[in-house]
Amino acid sequence: MTALQEEMATDSIATSAGPALMLALEQAAADPTLSHGIRALMQASARQLRAAGDAIDAERTRYRALFDAVPDPVSVLALDGTVLDLNRAGIAAYQRPREDIIGKPIDMLNPELPKGHMGPVLDALDRGETYVIETTNMRADGSRFPVEVHSAAFCEGGQTRIVAVARDLTARHEAESRYTSLIEGIDAGVTLHDAEGHLHYMNAAGMRITGVSVDESDVLRVPDWQDWMVVDEDGRPLPFAKHPAARAFATGRALSSQVIGLFRRSSQRLVWLSVTAVPQFAPGADKPHMVLTLSSDITNLKRDNALFGRVQELAQIGGWQWDRMTDALYLTDEAIRIVGASKAPSTMTAFLACLRESDAHRMHDVVSEIDEGTGFELELQGYQRDGTPFWISMIGESQSDGPGADQLTGTVQDITDRKQAEDSLRVQSQTDALTGLMNRDAILAKLDSRLSDCSSNQLALLYIDLDRFKMVNDVLGHGAGDVVLVAAAQRMRDAIGTEGLIARFGGDEFVVLCNINDNAARPEQLARRIQQAFAEPFLLQGEEFNVTTSIGIALAPTDGETSQQLTQNADVAMYDSKRRHRNGWQSFSPELAVRQHERLQTETQLRRALDNGEFHLVYQPQVDLRTGRIIYAEALVRWRNPQLGEMRPDHFIELAEGTGDIIRIGDWVLREACLQMRRWREQGLPIERVAVNVSYRQFTGENLAESVRQALQEADLPGSALELELTERVLVDDTPHTVAVFKQLRALGVQLSIDDFGEGYSALNYLRRLPIHALKLSHSFIKGVPGTPSDNAICQAVAGIAQSLGLELVAEGVENESQRDFLLRLGVTTGQGFLFAPGLLPGEFAKRVAAQLEPA
Ligand code: C2E
Ligand code: MG
Ligand code: MG
Repeated sequence: MTALQEEMATDSIATSAGPALMLALEQAAADPTLSHGIRALMQASARQLRAAGDAIDAERTRYRALFDAVPDPVSVLALDGTVLDLNRAGIAAYQRPREDIIGKPIDMLNPELPKGHMGPVLDALDRGETYVIETTNMRADGSRFPVEVHSAAFCEGGQTRIVAVARDLTARHEAESRYTSLIEGIDAGVTLHDAEGHLHYMNAAGMRITGVSVDESDVLRVPDWQDWMVVDEDGRPLPFAKHPAARAFATGRALSSQVIGLFRRSSQRLVWLSVTAVPQFAPGADKPHMVLTLSSDITNLKRDNALFGRVQELAQIGGWQWDRMTDALYLTDEAIRIVGASKAPSTMTAFLACLRESDAHRMHDVVSEIDEGTGFELELQGYQRDGTPFWISMIGESQSDGPGADQLTGTVQDITDRKQAEDSLRVQSQTDALTGLMNRDAILAKLDSRLSDCSSNQLALLYIDLDRFKMVNDVLGHGAGDVVLVAAAQRMRDAIGTEGLIARFGGDEFVVLCNINDNAARPEQLARRIQQAFAEPFLLQGEEFNVTTSIGIALAPTDGETSQQLTQNADVAMYDSKRRHRNGWQSFSPELAVRQHERLQTETQLRRALDNGEFHLVYQPQVDLRTGRIIYAEALVRWRNPQLGEMRPDHFIELAEGTGDIIRIGDWVLREACLQMRRWREQGLPIERVAVNVSYRQFTGENLAESVRQALQEADLPGSALELELTERVLVDDTPHTVAVFKQLRALGVQLSIDDFGEGYSALNYLRRLPIHALKLSHSFIKGVPGTPSDNAICQAVAGIAQSLGLELVAEGVENESQRDFLLRLGVTTGQGFLFAPGLLPGEFAKRVAAQLEPA
């Protein structure tokens, strides 16, 4: 029997011997054979013993109850490791009956502890310490569970005993493993620093992000921090004191979601992190001793964000989101830039304040009334804080994301450039580029709107045409023409002031639109002022040029109720004014319109007349005034039209000049007259030459000399058989072109004379410079002789000029003998007129010439 077993045996004797001894004492005390004193002593001892036994019982019961009430397994061991007692929790934990354990070595419960493990335990207990060890306990079925065992020594009955409390660590280990797998599995870096900046812990994600690693012994291998630079959200170096962990240490407060960049110099790699730092306090401490940081890698997010921002910037499209319930408005950076507010609007109300009032109302109405699932698109104008106007296109739609949410989201696009381009295009499209005045479309639009506006329907339209502008253009070139137009526009603008709107209608035509409600005389007043503005000559290439205006006036609604009617009638009036006298004005009248209509009809007929063979020539004899003998012929064109009848050139030559048909008609006259001469010559008729009238336009046209040359060649005539009658207008121009044409014609041997001399222009200097051989004294002067002294004087003067310059003189329109006598007295020997013959058909003319040949 071991000492321990012996000890246990005495203990059990002591506890089990109590009642037997008591019974023996009680029986002895009742023995009558014993003396009274001894019996009394025995009885007292038996009572004492009973009382002590009761006390021990009570203590034992209390001990048992306490022992079994401890929730962790508690065992009492002898120093050799024999289990002396085990509480109920132990029996339950090891799942063994009590007798399986009591008296057995504790090793059966601790399969992992090495032999002799009691050594260190006893050492610690000797030192009066508690011994703590983590190990594994085993159940009856062999299964194991982790425990933390706290052992302490105590003395019982002179014997040292060990009480061992085993705490089941299963739940703690499970929690720890859950925590570890969470921390290690999480996609965010978790680190623990102390106040000195030493790193105590870093999870796998943290290591991945920062490049920190652990060595074989699980010690953190801290990288070279010199290789790293910490930057703020905008990429600027961040001083250490502003690092999230440093701030958490300094403030003792948690700091959430600070964005920093970790730039690694060696790899030139930048990692963006969103860091939350939480200070850790030791129990009772008022300063943190550690900081736990949680860092999410937002590099991709930030890149996408930056890209998204850049894309918005490039596209000039921002985004917005508005919560209708709270009025909270979120705008992206680009959206904020576009509206250029001093403070980013955080409510729709603040946003609307950036817009011009009418647009703010429009936007407000739309966003407050829009139904769920529908959208809108608006173009709005607003003003940035510095007053710069902006234009935006707002697109949005309503979407409710679940209960309570009532949101509108959309885009805001900067369309300022487009709007400004549209504006300037609109201005451009309404402006005449040369003069800066309104153009035709613009003034017609204004006219239309004024005509449709009943309150201001008393209007006048002035149609203005520059006289002689075409000549400036033809002679001095288009550059000079442009200068005149610009200067003319300026003069008219000044003349009109604020009393009317002026526009360039086309070419050298302008219109002025004015109101006459308050002043019926305004159109004439403006016309007069405009004409006065042209009194001063224009200075072009160092020379003075007179440009005048012809103006037509039409009133609304009298002369037209539509812009088309009104402009057309003002044009009719202008045309009439120009036709009758340049530099004047003319109001429209219905008669004018009739005349204009007829003129148009005539022009239409005239255009086809040549192809229809409607022209023919008559020839008026030019005679020797002394004898009446026919010497020359003047070809005069006649037009016989099926609708209009026989037309004299007075009626149609001017029209043909206007339409340009005169060139073809003139060519035809030239050829026909020459061919007629040829026929007469072949008939042996002594007609020296035929005179053909040449109009201004024919003369200034490209190839008069060439036409003449061809006509002569075709008829096989010498130049001397042809005379060209030119109007004074041709000569007044006196340009290099005029001189050149004269030269070419003279080179062909053609005779040149001035028709209706003295009627048109007074400048006579051309007579000295140009190769002219004859003047024709206009019948307008002959008409008055010899009765009218002024006509007599003019006739005398012209005769004098011709004589002194050595020019022939032919008198026109000689109708009676007294005129003939007068002319003869002046020394004029050649003439034509009804006194001798009107224009004759070629056959008649030939007959008369032939008659002269017959002997009297
Ligand atoms: P003009 O060249 O001065 O022609 C003379 C005009 O006076 C002719 O009128 C003629 O018929 C008219 N006349 C002749 N004798 C008398 C008279 O004693 N008293 C009056 N009162 N008149 C007389 P016509 O043929 O009607 O021609 C008118 C103008 O038309 C011409 O004036 C001429 O400038 C132009 N003309 C005629 N034929 C042509 C032509 O083929 N080409 C061009 N370019 N112009 C032409
Ligand atoms: Mg003539
Ligand atoms: Mg004439």
